[in-house]
Amino acid sequence: MSVRVRIAPSPTGDPHVGTAYIALFNYVFAKKHGGQFVLRIEDTDRARSTADSEAAILRALRWVGLSWDEGPDIGGPHGPYRQSERSEMYQSEVAKLVASGAAYRCFCTAERLAEMRALAKGKSFVGYDGKCRGVDRNESDGRAAAGEAFVIRLAMPKTGETTFTDRLRGEVRFDNTQIDDQILLKSDGFPTYHLANVVDDHRMGITHVIRAEEWLSSTPKHVELYKVFGWSAPEWIHMPLLRNADKSKISKRKNPVSLDYYRAAGFLPEALLNYLGTMGWSIAGDREKFTLAEMIEAFTFDRMSLGGPVFDLVKLSAMNADYLRALDDSGIVSRLREWRLGDDYLRQLVPLVRQRIQRMDEFVPMTELFFSGDLDYTPVAKDLVAKNRTAKDVADCLLGFVEALDVQRDFSHAALEAAARAFAEKIAWDPKELFMVVRMAATARKATPPLFETLAVLGRDLVRRRLRLCGEWVKRRP
Ligand code: GLU
Repeated sequence: MSVRVRIAPSPTGDPHVGTAYIALFNYVFAKKHGGQFVLRIEDTDRARSTADSEAAILRALRWVGLSWDEGPDIGGPHGPYRQSERSEMYQSEVAKLVASGAAYRCFCTAERLAEMRALAKGKSFVGYDGKCRGVDRNESDGRAAAGEAFVIRLAMPKTGETTFTDRLRGEVRFDNTQIDDQILLKSDGFPTYHLANVVDDHRMGITHVIRAEEWLSSTPKHVELYKVFGWSAPEWIHMPLLRNADKSKISKRKNPVSLDYYRAAGFLPEALLNYLGTMGWSIAGDREKFTLAEMIEAFTFDRMSLGGPVFDLVKLSAMNADYLRALDDSGIVSRLREWRLGDDYLRQLVPLVRQRIQRMDEFVPMTELFFSGDLDYTPVAKDLVAKNRTAKDVADCLLGFVEALDVQRDFSHAALEAAARAFAEKIAWDPKELFMVVRMAATARKATPPLFETLAVLGRDLVRRRLRLCGEWVKRRP
């Protein structure tokens, strides 16, 4: 049987560095065994999924240098590769489970579920109490036919344990009394992650599920689904989570997590991939530098260790330095062009400075802020916190605005201005004051080309990074 693995990102935000990490190990494992690597888009969360995020994920994975054999953009024999286009499959599969009694309709209203949760507060199990599990089939069919709203839940066994083998962890056991009767199909007819994921992995012939550790607690539900569907389950491999220096799960508060940031900050994709390859895995002894081809050649999960790998920007930068230095001069020039010294980017800068420039020798000093990464705020320190404000006000404002920008996909200057005005209103600041603080945080200057045009050209990743760092800096300053 040939190896088939997949990466299954949800397009609900920025392309995450953890997605590249998991994709790398799937890719390497597939290539090692002459198998296929599939990209599937898990957009079952209709409210949060966006086409823009999907496009950003594909672009970022291509940038790191991982290519897939089947996916939404290139198709393949098991398509469509976007879950929103596979609804009927989930509905017809789940109908089989309702018919066999392995799943049931639940008619409980949101109010009843809220009451139930309130009653369960403090108890060890706060999942669904099983009220509708006992509803007789005829009654259930009748109520559904009469138009009553329902979800479909998995009838998890209420006694015993669910066990499975994880390649990295050995036997894993879960007490069934602690596992919820998972919703499989929502009241709008869309599947939840659990149903769609299992149906797709089965239908797409996935042989090994290599995913992050955070999904381990979902696995008993998936194991039960394979069982009641009568399908054989794939092999489970739950990879360690990337961690911040303090060992907490990697998070944007402590580390940039968007792949677009790494691109914008001038990391070489091959250095990033190499670094991700050292997260929990080693090629031999303490050797850290290796190419993708070398990783494939040497790959085995036996060299994986489970202690949470710390993702360290300083170490990554050192690895990037190695890769940069290994290029010859014209190699570096072409990388700089691809990064930000190419015509496309320069053309975006010209409109920002053309009215102010008298001689060409002013162009570089005037646009320096577009080519640097993290900034030093000392020059604007005394202006950042206005007399009527505290450092905390300014920090809260910047960090709050970053949160607003996290969900702001449209980064055109007009959309940014609207977002800034809305945020100023929300925190009851004069928009002009907010604009000034944002200007200083994004550029470390008081005078810049027009603010929102500048932010648009800097791009979401650099802007958010600088605003966050400036907010933290203001907060820490004595
Ligand atoms: N959609 C899930 C995610 O965003 C996929 C998890 C899995 O690989 O099963 O990571």
